[in-house]
Formats: sequence, structure tokens, C-alpha cells
Amino acid sequence: MEQTLSIVKPDGVKKRVIGEVMVKFEKAGLKIAALKMLKLTKENAKKFYIVHKDKPFYNSLTDFMSEGPIVVMIVEGENAISRVRDIMGATNPKNAAPGTIRSDFASDIEHNIVHGSDSQASASYEIPFFFPSLEIM
Ligand code: UDP
Ligand code: MG
Repeated sequence: MEQTLSIVKPDGVKKRVIGEVMVKFEKAGLKIAALKMLKLTKENAKKFYIVHKDKPFYNSLTDFMSEGPIVVMIVEGENAISRVRDIMGATNPKNAAPGTIRSDFASDIEHNIVHGSDSQASASYEIPFFFPSLEIM
């Protein structure tokens, strides 16, 4: 059993696909173990994406991630980290396999609807970033 952190990004909330994202996870047999909506400050977004601090897209990405509400969730199941990544599809929606979240809903490489932890190390940073243990079912 594994837990991973997923986010419906501001573009996903605006496009009203919060439910569609959760349907894809739940239909795959994964369970939502925690869930809430919030708005990141620019500073919070920079902290969350600190691993990308030296990337050319860091400033633009953290502007985007703090521009509107997001839905954060913990998704749980066997191999949840890699399975959520598979269900999300490639970072660039142009390369995302048909039926993945990003293929179905994303407009470009930055505005790509959804986040998912990419490893156990990042899940261990990202889960407590948003959820105290009392909020995890
Ligand atoms: N991103 C971007 N330009 C790029 C690569 C990534 O704007 O060239 C954004 C995009 O929103 C992506 C996020 O930065 O989801 C984090 O990048 P990462 O490489 O970790 O992709 P992910 O793990 O989200 O697929
Ligand atoms: Mg990533």
C-alpha cells in the first residue's frame, strides 16, 4: 500500500474537471485518502516546487500554481505513485497517451491539469506539505 500526493491545478479547477480527475483515479481502483481545496501563495508554490528552482519554467510555473484555487488529495493504493503518474499521462499533453488526464484535458506543457508525486521521496515531502496526519483517512 502506497500513498501519493495529487493536485488538480488551477487550470483544472477553472475547466471544471475536478470530478473527472477523481473519477479516473477511483475507476482505476485507487482510493482518495484526503482531500481539500485551497489557494497557494506565490511563496507556498515556490516552496512546493523547490526541486525545480533552477529550471527556466520555475517562475512561470509558480505564478500559474498560485493564480487560483487548487484541489489537493492523497491517493492511496498498491503502487499508487507510478499508477497515478500513468493515469496523468506525460508532462506535455502532446505526448500524453489517449485516455490519460493530460491527453483529455490539458492545453499545454505548463497548464497540464494535474500533479502527482514522482517518487517515494517526493511523496514524503509533498504529503505533509498539505496534510497533517489527522486529515489523512
Ligand atoms: N513545466 C513547464 N515547462 C516545462 C516542464 C514542466 O511549465 O518545460 C511545468 C508543468 O506544469 C509540470 C511542472 O512544471 O507539470 C513540473 O514539471 P515536472 O517535470 O516535474 O513534470 P510532472 O512531474 O508534473 O509531469
Ligand atoms: Mg514532477
